[in-house]
Amino acid sequence: MNMRKNECFEVEIVSMSSDGSGVARVDGTVVFVPFALPGDLLEIKILKVKNNIAFGKIAEVIKASPLRVAPLCSDFGKCGGCSLMHMSYQGQLEYKKQKVCDAIKRIGKLEAEVENVVCSDEEGYRNKALVPVSYDEEGNICAGFYRRRTHDIIPFEKCVIENSSVGQICECVLKWMKEENIKPYNQETGKGTIRHIYFRRAALEGKIMCGVVSAFEKLPAEEKLADMLFEIPGVSSVINNINKEKTNVILGNRTKVIRGEKYLKDVLLGKEFSIGSLSFYQINRNQCERLYSKAGELLNLNEHDILYDIYCGIGTIGICLGDKVKKLVGVEIVPEAVKLAKLNAEVNGYKNAEYYVGKAEDMTFEENEKPTAVVIDPPRKGCDPALIETLLSLEPERICYISCDPATLARDLKIFAESGKYKIGKVYPFDMFPQTEHVECCVLLCRT
Ligand code: SAH
Repeated sequence: MNMRKNECFEVEIVSMSSDGSGVARVDGTVVFVPFALPGDLLEIKILKVKNNIAFGKIAEVIKASPLRVAPLCSDFGKCGGCSLMHMSYQGQLEYKKQKVCDAIKRIGKLEAEVENVVCSDEEGYRNKALVPVSYDEEGNICAGFYRRRTHDIIPFEKCVIENSSVGQICECVLKWMKEENIKPYNQETGKGTIRHIYFRRAALEGKIMCGVVSAFEKLPAEEKLADMLFEIPGVSSVINNINKEKTNVILGNRTKVIRGEKYLKDVLLGKEFSIGSLSFYQINRNQCERLYSKAGELLNLNEHDILYDIYCGIGTIGICLGDKVKKLVGVEIVPEAVKLAKLNAEVNGYKNAEYYVGKAEDMTFEENEKPTAVVIDPPRKGCDPALIETLLSLEPERICYISCDPATLARDLKIFAESGKYKIGKVYPFDMFPQTEHVECCVLLCRT
């Protein structure tokens, strides 16, 4: 069938894609429809056709799916942050389980069992925000989130998934900018000063690190910014991150503390961690504890183990799980994170921990240093093939793979399974990012 742009069809949504779109079939063509849910009966309009695939949008909901709920946020659908707020929470959990099952089966070609998704218990679960600053349609300075697939900003007062203090911090920074006539940075012209508002909060004592990302050194009126932000309950440090590059990467690699504590402190599974402005820290703390506990249970570490924490960030996983081990070694690419991992290991009483700055895939091993247990927790793109090759030659007894992308997880597990050296255990998904299509997983690989 020759489907054309702007054509309309009545369709039933039969499933959901890995990016959270509804999927319909019109004759032989698969049509992806954002914000559509399985069970919806819809009138859709075709936006784009490409070979046997088409993309459409909802023109009318004829009969709503039983999974449909009223979104908690009025900007849902416009803002690029959330993608599943129109779906019941139970529906989200089932969708995420299915997404993991599909990846394991189709990409990984594996039989591994997938557990039910562990649910998240908090609405404002995010402890970090980097909010872009720009102008609204009337030319006023504003802060908010990007409209889906654009760089236009939707100003926001309250974001449902963020910690409730973010709005207050943004309001305060905007007030300071207006009073001091400080302009938002414009990426096209390279003019202006402020790029983003920085926010990070630690659950312990509710302390907040906040400030701005600027395009230049020497922020004007920085003392006044600190005065104003310190009025907000919880604020313990005010920072200025400097990013001079013409880039979409939000943070530059240098942060100046304008006032207050250099690091935030949080507690995970009874261990204390210093968190820096440039280092990775799980954004949903309560789920993070559940995830690490599962990893600990799966690895079942003992006093003979040499544990490698690869992609270790500030050392959280190894330090939470490695109490008993003979030796703990961490590898991470961000220098600030490695510095903090060393500090965190020391503060938590580790005398047998070593951390290295570098790429996981470039790691080398000494014969007597071979790991018996390994945690790998890579970013979304998964592990570099060179790292998997190294691990396959070292043959640690257990590898716990923590992943925030089921597709790359499945791709990597396939390599481990095909080597014949590892048996892939059950996959445990965790809902680290409610209201979005993302899901975190944890799986144990055992030497056969
Ligand atoms: N395990 C940590 C961090 C996980 S996020 C935690 O649970 O908090 C992934 C980490 O991998 C980030 O800290 C990132 O800086 C780091 N990273 C990204 N690419 C890397 C590479 N090629 N080699 C080593 N570390 C890398």
